[in-house]
Amino acid sequence: MNSIQTTDTFNAFHEVWEDVDSSDGSLKDFTIAIKDNIATKRGTTTCGSKMLEGYRSPFNATVIDRLENAGATLVGKTNCDEFAMGSSTEHCAWGPVLNPWDTSRVPGGSSGGSAVAVATRMCQAALGSDTGGSIRQPAAFCGVVGFKPTYGTVSRYGLVAFASSLDQIGTFTNSVEDTACIMQIIAGYDELDSTSNPEPTQNFIDDIHTPVDTLRIGVPSQYRGGNNEAPINDAITHAIDTYKELGATIIDIELPLTDVGISTYYVLAPAEASSNLARYDGIRYGHRTTESCKDLFELYAKSRAEGFGVEVKRRIMLGTYVLSSGYYDAYYKNALKIRRLIFEEYQEAFSQCDVILGPTTPTVAFKLGGKEDPISMYLNDVYTANTNIAGICGISIPCGFSKEHGSSLPIGMHLQAAWHDDAKLLRIAQMFESATEFHKAKPECCS
Ligand code: GLN
Repeated sequence: MNSIQTTDTFNAFHEVWEDVDSSDGSLKDFTIAIKDNIATKRGTTTCGSKMLEGYRSPFNATVIDRLENAGATLVGKTNCDEFAMGSSTEHCAWGPVLNPWDTSRVPGGSSGGSAVAVATRMCQAALGSDTGGSIRQPAAFCGVVGFKPTYGTVSRYGLVAFASSLDQIGTFTNSVEDTACIMQIIAGYDELDSTSNPEPTQNFIDDIHTPVDTLRIGVPSQYRGGNNEAPINDAITHAIDTYKELGATIIDIELPLTDVGISTYYVLAPAEASSNLARYDGIRYGHRTTESCKDLFELYAKSRAEGFGVEVKRRIMLGTYVLSSGYYDAYYKNALKIRRLIFEEYQEAFSQCDVILGPTTPTVAFKLGGKEDPISMYLNDVYTANTNIAGICGISIPCGFSKEHGSSLPIGMHLQAAWHDDAKLLRIAQMFESATEFHKAKPECCS
């Protein structure tokens, strides 16, 4: 039986499962935490929302069955922004999660609890979901490896839907090799998810330590410069030098649509969210108001008003607006056209290079309460949202520390690769990890 250290001063876990049995299998030595928006028969699945307080799923997500069959020990559910909407894990009905490197700061989000559980070594790995950056951004803020696979690589069956065309389950680990071990188990076609990739599963493990020959790394001018904190630009320059020493060719590329990613994302994601979240009506499951209601509509309205938090309501209103008949063409349809252009821009870039390198975020972890204006919070995903819009894969790996704000705060490097180049992306990330020590650093609380 594996055990989990349960001192959780960071509020990473909503629920810790004691007496967890492990069985034989390739993941028998892994303790794995699960983001609370992935359905588990064991315990509750709340999505960090009062709407689903105490909700028990009658079924497991496909990833849960696959992990259990491979002998992994599942240790509990981690806190997240409500319905995975956010970049700080402050919008969680069970309180904010704290960054273990500096508890006055956020861990990133929306999968903040999963990132913290792995950064503090409370478990070896965790699952998260990434719709616009929710694995890679908290991984960068907490100094761990965070991987968002190509859309369709990992089954979404049992992942509570936020924006179905962007959502993807992925991993948090302390090494790229651990990512490969878990991917080998959770990736692969699932007949329960019609968007899962029917091609044979990639081999993530066998070649993980084999460097990629004639590696070409694209560095977009849009990812460098003034919007990034200086220590982040320095760490990226250092990472580029490391790859050069490993024999890579660096190619200057352009991704001019980087700037429109956030505005496109904030039309598409809320549109899908407003439709997906319509199921929480107080009738079928989830929170129901106890106040008396004069009719069915009032029951819906009161239940939803009480159950959802402020950020979720903002997204539902935004999404309903961009889908409404008068505005559909101007907003939703245009966003779909830009989505196609972003996809083509990446295709063009990947005709020149194997991976695209840049920072995961323009800043290191910010202060709790530091981004009350929603737009400034949204801008945190400027480098990650387009990955989901195009459906390609991306990974954040530790690449340095910033001392600019007093405490030592991790910096993440973001590598993106083309559709279904996930295994190759991990090999390229592994090359950097083998040449550096950043992934071994731990926050003071666990040294
Ligand atoms: N931060 C983004 C948002 O708030 C992305 C969230 C995610 O990837 N789940 O929507």
